Amino acid sequence: MRGSSPKAVKAIPTARSTSPIKLRLAGPITHDSIVDGDGLRAVVFFQGCGRKCEGCHNPESWDFNSGIEVDTNYVKSKLLGLRGQNGLTLSGGEPMWQAEAALEIARFAKEEMGWDVWAFSGFRHDDIKAGRDRATPAMWELVKELDVLIDGPFILKKRDLTLKFRGSKNQRLLRLDNGKIVSIE
Ligand code: SF4
Repeated sequence: MRGSSPKAVKAIPTARSTSPIKLRLAGPITHDSIVDGDGLRAVVFFQGCGRKCEGCHNPESWDFNSGIEVDTNYVKSKLLGLRGQNGLTLSGGEPMWQAEAALEIARFAKEEMGWDVWAFSGFRHDDIKAGRDRATPAMWELVKELDVLIDGPFILKKRDLTLKFRGSKNQRLLRLDNGKIVSIE
C-alpha cells in the first residue's frame, strides 16, 4: 500500500501569497462534476500517488514525474473562468503530496470563489493530524482548510458500489471544521 516518497514539502504559503507554486496535474481541470462531492464541482486532479492500491481506478496518476506541470496561478485562472460551480474537489493521484499548492488553491477557492472544498486522500485524517504515515505539517494545514475529507486508501476487498462518493467501506466522508471532525458518513 505504500510506495516511494516524493520530494519533501517546503514552506506553507499564506492566504495572501501571490508567488505561484508549481504542481503536477494528472489531467485537465474538470467542471460540472456530480460524482466528486455535493452539487456541481470543479475538480483538480493531482499527479502522483505512492500507495498503488489494488483496483485503483486511476493508476496512470501514480507516477510523480508524469502528468502536466503547471503553477497555482494557472489553476486559479482556470477556476476563475468557471461558472455555476458549488465547490472545488481536490483529487488525484494524491493531493496531499502537493499540499503546498493544494492549500493555496483551496484558500483561493474559498476566499475568492466562495466555494466549499473537498479532498480525496489515501491518508487517514488521524494519521495526518499525528504526522504518521509520512504525513507532513503542510498536509494538516490543508486539512484545516477543507470542508470535507474523504480519507483512506481504496481497498478492493472492501469495495462497496453503494457508497456515495467512496469506493470501499474503510473510506470515510468526514465533514470538518478547521480540521476537527464534525460528522462521519
Ligand atoms: S490512494 Fe487513491 S489514487 Fe492512490 S493508489 Fe489508492 S486508489 Fe489510487
